Amino acid sequence: MEISQTGAKDMPAAIREATGTTEMKQEEEKRSGERILAGFDTEGGLLIETHSPEETYALGEALGEAAAPGQVYTLTGDLGVGKTVFAQGFARGLGITGTVNSPTFTILQIYEEGRLPLFHFDVYRIGDVEEMEEIGYEDYFYGEGVCLIEWAELVEEILPENRVGVSVAKNPEKGFDYRQIEICRRSERASNCGRTAENLR
Ligand code: ADP
Ligand code: MG
Repeated sequence: MEISQTGAKDMPAAIREATGTTEMKQEEEKRSGERILAGFDTEGGLLIETHSPEETYALGEALGEAAAPGQVYTLTGDLGVGKTVFAQGFARGLGITGTVNSPTFTILQIYEEGRLPLFHFDVYRIGDVEEMEEIGYEDYFYGEGVCLIEWAELVEEILPENRVGVSVAKNPEKGFDYRQIEICRRSERASNCGRTAENLR
């Protein structure tokens, strides 16, 4: 992984701050710190550049290791940008060893073998938010597990106020495998990064 750290903070601390996670074991801290080397702060958030699927996976893994019960992570970005790659790393970081794929045809896939239950949503094919009500999304959003929601912008109106936004974008000028990943915490008190959910899409 390319080293281009411009922020003064060490990465695990930056991840905790950007995601609102307050606790993380020291040993996990060390491990994820070794993996994620390229990153710099945006205003209250974190901007990370990756140059391969493996790096995006490693970023997801570090966030999965740091995740806390009850957190909701939204994953936004165009088709094929790497949301599922990130989700797979995230699952691994939670200690899930089974295969994680996009639950496109089921909306929700539940993984319970990790440190915390993972509720992996992919709402790409959702017709109406009522479908979310039918599966009882509130139990998951406001429960003790961790939610990852691919295509979260499609269910904007039911997203909790407190959440961590992860948006992935390509930049053709920087190469085929380049991705810019912004991690931004939203809360009742403040929308970090000086952004609204609108321009996080
Ligand atoms: P999404 O879930 O956003 O639709 P996927 O994660 O399924 O996208 O697919 C992302 C694709 O982009 C994969 O084929 C992956 O190998 C490729 N890819 C290339 N570079 C990267 C990168 N830096 N990060 C993530 N994926 C990448
Ligand atoms: Mg996907």
